[in-house]
Order: sequence, then C-alpha cells, then structure tokens
Amino acid sequence: MAALNAPRLLPLVLAVALVSGACRSARPAAGTAPAGPAAPGAPAQRYESLRALLWFQSAEECRWIQRSAFAAARRSLEAALADASWSALGQGPDAAALPPAVIADLDETLLDNSAFEGGLLRSGATFSAEAWRSWVEAERATALPGALEFVRFAAEHGVTVFYVSNRDAPFEAATRANLAREGFPLRDDLDTVMLRGERPEWKTDKESRRREISASHRVLLLLGDDLNDFLPGVDATPVAERRAAAEAHGERWGVSWFVLPNPLYGSWEKALGAGQPAPADAAEALARRLGHVRAFP
Ligand SMILES: [Mg+2]
Repeated sequence: MAALNAPRLLPLVLAVALVSGACRSARPAAGTAPAGPAAPGAPAQRYESLRALLWFQSAEECRWIQRSAFAAARRSLEAALADASWSALGQGPDAAALPPAVIADLDETLLDNSAFEGGLLRSGATFSAEAWRSWVEAERATALPGALEFVRFAAEHGVTVFYVSNRDAPFEAATRANLAREGFPLRDDLDTVMLRGERPEWKTDKESRRREISASHRVLLLLGDDLNDFLPGVDATPVAERRAAAEAHGERWGVSWFVLPNPLYGSWEKALGAGQPAPADAAEALARRLGHVRAFP
C-alpha cells in the first residue's frame, strides 16, 4: 500500500535529498569512483551493501524474478514477431519492413558481476576504475538466470540482439570474449556490442545508441536493470522526476520494456543525491541516506 502512495510522498523525500556515499550510476563508469569520502573499510560503508549482495547472489526469490522477467520477455517477443506494428520505441509504420531487434543492457541485465562487488566488500575496498578494469579483463562475469535462454531464443527466431552497455569502449574485446565464453550469440557481420565512447556521441545516456539501432531495425523489446536502459535524461535526475518519466510509459513496462532487479548500484542511487553537494564524510553520507527512508511513525 505504501508503495502505491509513494508518488505523493516524493516531494517530502526530496526535501532531504542527498548524495549517496557510493554514487556509481550505471555500472561501470571508469573514472567515476564513489563520491563518498569513506576510508576503505569504514564499517558503515563497507557492509552497507551486504544484505543486498547476499540477496542478489543467493536468494531463490531473486533468481525467479530474473527467470520470470526473461520468460515474460520471451512471450512478448513471440507476440511482437506476429505483430508488424509492434515497437518498443514507438516506431511508426515505416519500421514494419525493418529487421527485428532487441536492445539489452549487459551488466546486471544479462551478466552477473556480483562477484566483483563481493571482492570489494570482502577486501574493504571501494569502487575504482582500476578494480573494475581488472574484473572486466578477467572475463569472469556469468550469465544471469534465464538470460542465455532468452537471447538464444531471440537469435534463433531471426531477432538481432544489440548489447548496449556502459562498459567503456576499450573493454570491447574482453566483453566480447566474456559473452562468447558464456554462450551469448554474437554476429560476425554486424557490431552488436555497442559500448560507451565507441563513438563520440555514445555517452552514458544510451538514447543516441537506441536511435541509431532504430534507424535500421524495428526494436521489439528493451531489457535493462537501470532506468537509463529505457529512457533518456534520467541518469542524475531527482527521484520524483524519474518516477514521472517512468510513469509516462506505464503501458510499456512488462510488455515491451523488461527490468531486472539490481539493488547493488544504479542511477536510482544517484537520484537520491541529485542536485546536492557531496557529503562531507561517511557519517554524513549515511545520515543523508537515512533521511530518505519512509518510516512509521
Ligand atoms: Mg546494467
């Protein structure tokens, strides 16, 4: 019930908006180390993500949310293939003749990087571009439950899957190798791995990449773990604005837009601090986060 009433409460929540102590937006922004000041190992920060991480890694509930999302996406894909007017991006009749495609994010959508998070937590380190590079180049990310089956189903039905990720361009070879190792289909005749910075206009906001794909393909579905995987201009916007932007496309969620759970990081976290200066220290960062909690009484 509280969740249903949440929009009305958001202005109050924003009154205490904050910058999160570890404000990564979509993973993996090289050079965007956490804005939070906590010394590595500071207890309040070090274990702040422990329960979320354990849920992501071990909860059967999480695994079946993921599998359910991909199963629903598969059903929608079947419907979309039978409906020439179907587009996840509102493309018009001209798109009917274009080859079909799906746009999927990689990290925490198709690939599980939670062991990287676990390594940070175990060692007491905070996110750094160097640590992330080591992880990506180790090519150890694994397919999330249901992801491989879904992507293979799409490929077998003539649907091109574009992997639109904010991994940085220099990681393309390692990312391709990791995808291939996990069994994700890659095309030889078309670059379907579209990373941030491969072209100057391919920035953190993925809209330019979605536009490019939609010029040559009819986009049937979007899959992601971050609002940025679906909408433009939502990377560092306040909670209420994100809510309004998502609500404006209410008919698409669960139909042509499928979101995967990610309690570990994301632009949702950045939104909590939108427009606010960085906190002075770890204690202030924690206090600000607590300020966002809805509570009774
Ligand atoms: Mg992601």
